[in-house]
Amino acid sequence: MTSQVEQLEFQAETRQLLELMIHSVYSEKDIFLRELISNASDALDKLRLEAFRDKDLNVDTSDLHIDIDVDKDARTLTVRDNGIGMSRAEVIDLIGTLAKSGTADVRRRLAEAKESAAPEELIGQFGIGFYSTFMVADRVTLLTRRAGETEATRWESSGEATYTIETVEDAPQGTSITLHLKPADTDDALYDYTQPWKIKQIVKRYSDFISFPIRMEVPPPPAEEGAEEEVTRQIETETINSMKALWTRPRSDVTDEEYKEFYKHVSHAWDDPLEIISLKAEGTFEYQALLFIPSQAPFDTFMREHKRGVQLYVKRVFIMEDCEELMPEYLRFVKGVVDAQDLSLNVSREILQQDRQLKMIQKRLVKKVLSTIQKIQSDEAEKYKTLWGEFGKVLKEGLLGDFENRDALLKLSSFASTASEDELTTLAGYVERMHEGQEQIYYMTGETRQMIESSPHMEAFKAKGLEVLLLTDPVDEMWVGSVPEFDGKKFQSIAKGEVDLDSQEDKDATEALRTEQEKEFTDLLSWLTTSLDEHVKQVRLSTRLTTSPACIVGDTNDFTPMLERMYRASGQELPTVKRILELNPTHPLVTGLREAHAARPDDAGLVDTAELLYGTAVLAEGGELSDPAKFAKLLADRLAKTL
Ligand code: ADP
Ligand code: MG
Repeated sequence: MTSQVEQLEFQAETRQLLELMIHSVYSEKDIFLRELISNASDALDKLRLEAFRDKDLNVDTSDLHIDIDVDKDARTLTVRDNGIGMSRAEVIDLIGTLAKSGTADVRRRLAEAKESAAPEELIGQFGIGFYSTFMVADRVTLLTRRAGETEATRWESSGEATYTIETVEDAPQGTSITLHLKPADTDDALYDYTQPWKIKQIVKRYSDFISFPIRMEVPPPPAEEGAEEEVTRQIETETINSMKALWTRPRSDVTDEEYKEFYKHVSHAWDDPLEIISLKAEGTFEYQALLFIPSQAPFDTFMREHKRGVQLYVKRVFIMEDCEELMPEYLRFVKGVVDAQDLSLNVSREILQQDRQLKMIQKRLVKKVLSTIQKIQSDEAEKYKTLWGEFGKVLKEGLLGDFENRDALLKLSSFASTASEDELTTLAGYVERMHEGQEQIYYMTGETRQMIESSPHMEAFKAKGLEVLLLTDPVDEMWVGSVPEFDGKKFQSIAKGEVDLDSQEDKDATEALRTEQEKEFTDLLSWLTTSLDEHVKQVRLSTRLTTSPACIVGDTNDFTPMLERMYRASGQELPTVKRILELNPTHPLVTGLREAHAARPDDAGLVDTAELLYGTAVLAEGGELSDPAKFAKLLADRLAKTL
C-alpha cells in the first residue's frame, strides 16, 4: 500500500530557528549526536515505563538499545532506537512545531537575537535538540513507529520552510533518524561523521553514561597478510559506551566534562552547570542525588507550563521526569536525578504525593541546595552574582510559602538599595548600616529603580541619609507583605502608613510646629478631603516630603498600585482602593492654595488646582491617572494662562 506524501509547513518560529541552525557557525557541531542519543535514550526509558504500566502493550523490552550506522559512500549517518516511537500526530506536534510553546516569548527572543546575541547563544538558550542535526545534514529522514501501533510515519526535511510526512507500513517499532551529511567543506577527517572512530570519540565524550548500549559496527584491524579473507573481514558490533550511571560513581572518579554532559542530557539544556551537588543518604532509607544549578535560566522559567527539573530513578531505573515531589516550585531551576533504593518500581504520581519518604528526601534536598547557595554566596562572589541574577526572582517565591526555610532564604537573598548604584546588598549588610535608633528595614516597591528613586516618598529618607531597599521584582510585592521581619527588624514600606523619622529630641522640637501647622491647615485639609473624595480617603500633612508638593500613601494594609496592576493583569477584579494624599506644608503650591482657599472659598478654579495637585502626585509615583485626558486639558488651560 502506498500512501500520500503530504507537504507541511514549519511554524514561523521553527523556521527561523532552523535557518539559524543551517547557517550556524556553532563550533561544536559534534553535539548533534549527543542530542540524537539523548532523545533515543529518553524514548527507551519511556518504552520501558509504558510496558511496565500497560500490560496490554505487547512489546519486547529485553533488548533496548541504540544503534549507529555509518555509510561512507552514501555519506549518511543513522541513529536507531527501539524505544517508544512516535505516532503521526506526535511527529507533527513534536518535530514540526517548537514543542516548548510560549510562542510569543520565542518570537521576542528571536527578534532580540537577530539584533544582538550570537546565534550560538540562542541555540544554547532554546536547547534545540533535534534541529541541531541541520548543522551537519542537508536532509534528515525520520522513520518511526509508536509502540502498540501498526502504521509508521516517515518524515523528511531539508530544514527549509517545509517538511514531508507520509504513512508507511512495515517499519520496526522505534525511531530511526538518518542524516544525509553535508558535503565535507574540508578534507579534515575531524569533521567526517562517517568515520567510526570519530563517532566513538563523540559518544565517549558526550554520551558515555547513557544507560542503554550504544552499538556500532566497527571494522576489525587490517587483515593480516595471507589470512583467510572470509574470517578476518567479519565486522563486529561493539558497544561503545560504558553505561555507568554517573551518580553511582565516586565524585573523584568523574571528570567535570562528564558531569557537564550529563547535565545537558538530564536538563535538555545547552549551558554548563554553575554548580554540581551530589548527595548520598545511607541507613534506613537509601538514595543518591546528583543535582545541578544551571548557569542560565531557561526561557520558560516563568511560564505556566514550565517543568521542574529533577528526575526520579528507582534502583537505576528511570521512573519519571519532572518529579514534583522532589523539589518545591521555587527550586524548579534545579536539575538532576534522585535515585531511591527502596521505592517500588511501580510507583505512580498519586502514590508519590502521599509518600513520606519522598517528603523527607525533598526536605533534605532543599536544605542542601540552600546551604550550597549560601556557601557560594560567602565564598564565590562572582558565581553568586550570576546565580542570583538568573534565579533570584524564582528563589524569592520561596519566601511566600516555605516557612521552614524562610530565614535561610532571607539570608541568601540580595537586593538593590539606595546604598549603592550597582551593587546589591544582603539584608545583613543593610542591618549593619542601619542608623543609631533605626528600628525598621525600609523598602519601597515599584516597577523600576529609577521610578522608586525619584518618587516623592524618598525625599525625607534621602534628606536623612536613610537607606531604602529598592524592590522591583513582581514577587517582591508579594513576599514583603507576608514576611514579618529579618533579624528582629520589621520591614517597613516608605510608601505606606505614617513615617516617623525623627529622634525623640527632634520630635519634641517639631511637635509644637506640627500643632501650629495643623491648625493653620485645618480648613484646607477638610475642604480637599471633600473635593477629592472621588480619589482619596483622606488628605493630611506630610513629614516625608522636602521638595515635592504632595504624594500618595497607602495605609499599612493597602494594595500598592503595582500589586493592583498585577492582580488586574491576571484577570482578577479588585475594588479600587482609595489611598491618602499627603501635602508638604512648606511647598509654595500648598501654602499658596491654603491662602487662596481662605480668601476665595467658592472659587471653582481652586477645585481644578486640587485635581492637578492630586494628578501630579499620582504621576510622580508612576501611577496611572483615571482620566488622563481631563488632566491634560486642565493642565493645558492652566499653562495657557501663564503665558
Ligand atoms: P527535547 O528532547 O528537549 O524535548 P528535542 O528537539 O530533542 O527536544 O526533541 C523533541 C521531541 O521529539 C522530544 O521531546 C520527543 O518527544 C520527540 N523525539 C525526538 N526524538 C525521538 C525518538 N528518538 N523517539 C521518540 N521521540 C522522539
Ligand atoms: Mg532532546
